[in-house]
Amino acid sequence: MLDLIIIGAGSAGISAYKEARKYTHNLRIINDGAWDTTCARVGCMPSKILVSTANRLHDAHHADRVGLNLQIEADTSRVMTHLRALRDRFTRSVIRDVDSWNPEHKISGKAKFINANTIEVNGEQLQAKAFILAVGSTPRFDQGDQKALGDRLISTDDIFELPDLPKRLAVIGSGAIAIELSQAMHNLGVEVTTFARSRHVGILSSDNLQNIAQAHISQQLSILFETLPSSMSRDGDEVVIDYQDQQGQAQTIRVDYVLSAIGRNSLLSTLDLYKVDASFTDVKKLPIHDDTKQLGDYPMFVVGDAFSKNPIQHIASYTGKHVVSNALNYPQVEALPKLSPLAIVFSNPQMAIAGQSKKELEQRNIVFITGFQSFENQGRARTLGKNYGGIEVYIEKSSQRLLGAELFMDSAEHLAHMLSWMIAEQVTLEDILDRPYYHPTLEEGLRSALKHARRQLRELG
Ligand SMILES: Cc1cc2nc3c(=O)[nH]c(=O)nc-3n(C[C@H](O)[C@H](O)[C@H](O)COP(=O)(O)OP(=O)(O)OC[C@H]3O[C@@H](n4cnc5c(N)ncnc54)[C@H](O)[C@@H]3O)c2cc1C
Repeated sequence: MLDLIIIGAGSAGISAYKEARKYTHNLRIINDGAWDTTCARVGCMPSKILVSTANRLHDAHHADRVGLNLQIEADTSRVMTHLRALRDRFTRSVIRDVDSWNPEHKISGKAKFINANTIEVNGEQLQAKAFILAVGSTPRFDQGDQKALGDRLISTDDIFELPDLPKRLAVIGSGAIAIELSQAMHNLGVEVTTFARSRHVGILSSDNLQNIAQAHISQQLSILFETLPSSMSRDGDEVVIDYQDQQGQAQTIRVDYVLSAIGRNSLLSTLDLYKVDASFTDVKKLPIHDDTKQLGDYPMFVVGDAFSKNPIQHIASYTGKHVVSNALNYPQVEALPKLSPLAIVFSNPQMAIAGQSKKELEQRNIVFITGFQSFENQGRARTLGKNYGGIEVYIEKSSQRLLGAELFMDSAEHLAHMLSWMIAEQVTLEDILDRPYYHPTLEEGLRSALKHARRQLRELG
């Protein structure tokens, strides 16, 4: 009997394996498909390469905002080959690491459960005292569309493999991935039409920042809010999309590809978990304890995107590592250490949430003050020609502690990290205001938001 079987070798499974082998060599890690992780192959890395190229071109096109007159003749023919060349460096580095592991620990194949301590892979049965399920997720498709459009309906698993940038692309969805890729493709000269079921874009939960983001993004991008295609059909190499516009008029567009970015399905469904427990038929309703990651009372622990409210790479890695002690010490199971929340969308400008979102605070009935600062007239943002968006900070009324912040601004990724780290240190409003603010910087916008909160607190007495 093995001490541990880890199923899935993505960001979560790799972290779990590296941690577990410090304590035991009586273990296996099983992975279906490539061993180079979703993040490196078809996720975080290729999408960020595309976004970086697109942002560079976008800045050049908007050089007039900083007093330059540029005649741009962009040759985008190398964009996709550059993307893959760089992406392949990242995947090679993951593979190099995996290649250095003990070959006896690794099994390539699709695992499924036979019973609570037995799995089957490649026709062989293996038993373990505990299991870490780190199987990730896969893009969600509408089955009907898939049938009708064939290879012209693509997901993030396919888009980075396109030989060249398409001329016309429709994107279905307005979540983080849909917005990142819609904007990047648009900024690279692709004719993009984005269909959004609601008005909600990305991750921001604040209505104020959502309104600002929706207005800003829809100025640049052809985003059709509260509109989905009424029909999609294939005509040769084109896709014909019919929809009804906001005025109720029938419209038709033709595109080369449709990117389905409507979410992802957990691959826990591949594991036949109902053979462990007859009640585990619906993988969305599994009794997974949020704090320990344990599945019911079983010696099974679920980490990463397979079951997560926050399908984010650093959380997959962190929980993968920290869940190992629960798996190896079962039945002694403890709550995992918690990271201060941090989520970023690499849109243009970026969106971020540090600490608790406004919606979470409201749902928890926490009494807090919102400090807001627009970046439309912020000094540094103006010098950069990137004076748009805003920031909100959430200060608890009783303790005056910073609980969270939402950002829609240039380079939000950096400020959001700093805010998340400060929130972890439980700093108060006065603590943060009593720090240096170099002039002129975007951080001065944060200070203005904090002062806005302080004025409101003083008025309340
Ligand atoms: C386009 C895109 C952009 C993204 N951008 C970002 C970003 O900028 N920042 C960020 O933090 N996150 C980003 N993410 C999310 C990030 O990629 C994921 O959070 C992370 O990769 C999840 O890792 P994981 O280990 O849970 O899953 P994975 O890396 O998917 O690993 C799961 C592994 O399990 C295997 N598996 C599945 N079923 C079985 C089975 N039955 N038996 C054996 N093996 C199995 C799979 O084949 C896979 O190899 C992005 C995702 C996408 C798609």
